[in-house]
Amino acid sequence: MSVERRLFFALSLPPALQKQVIKWRAAHFPAETGRPVAAANLHITLAFLGEISELKADALTRIAGRIQAHKFSLRLDDIGHWPGSGVVWVGTRRAPNALLQLASVLRSHAARNGCYQSALPFHPHVSLYRNATRPVAIPPATPDWLLEADAFSLYESTWERGRTRYRCLQTWPLADAPAL
Ligand code: ATP
Ligand code: MG
Repeated sequence: MSVERRLFFALSLPPALQKQVIKWRAAHFPAETGRPVAAANLHITLAFLGEISELKADALTRIAGRIQAHKFSLRLDDIGHWPGSGVVWVGTRRAPNALLQLASVLRSHAARNGCYQSALPFHPHVSLYRNATRPVAIPPATPDWLLEADAFSLYESTWERGRTRYRCLQTWPLADAPAL
């Protein structure tokens, strides 16, 4: 029987930004907001693949290596709460085209390889809290951070010793943006 792994493509946050985010989170939300996402796990999911076989993972890894996508700067200047999924997040008011294109190409390859893709529109975000199912006071001052995305990665999500851990399996660089 083939082993299945839980995989997703994502953008990581540099360690300095991870620190900034968790410091800001601690200063702006009460502890009972929800389950805080660990600093090392802060990320932006591009495409969720689910629990997939090695065969499918290999196929999608090869495809990812052939994607021609460009670097981009992403402003994290929006914040919100989805009570249904219990997520408090920071996102962007204006997603750059390069980000939307990268997510779209990864999602369509995932779908073509049999990985179910949500019908909801892609809403790039960094989850700050999970299990936030009760009303949350959103701070009036939104953050304004800049994420310079110069690579994307394939991650494996595992549950170890009572925690969700992500392991980076492979990273692909993004090309310099074309001159305007
Ligand atoms: P936990 O499930 O322990 O709360 P997590 O949600 O971060 O932690 P995973 O469920 O493995 O860990 O998810 C990995 C990433 O994929 C996260 O960004 C998550 O939001 C996203 N994700 C998980 N399930 C889906 C899904 N069904 N559709 C779209 N994205 C998903
Ligand atoms: Mg989850």
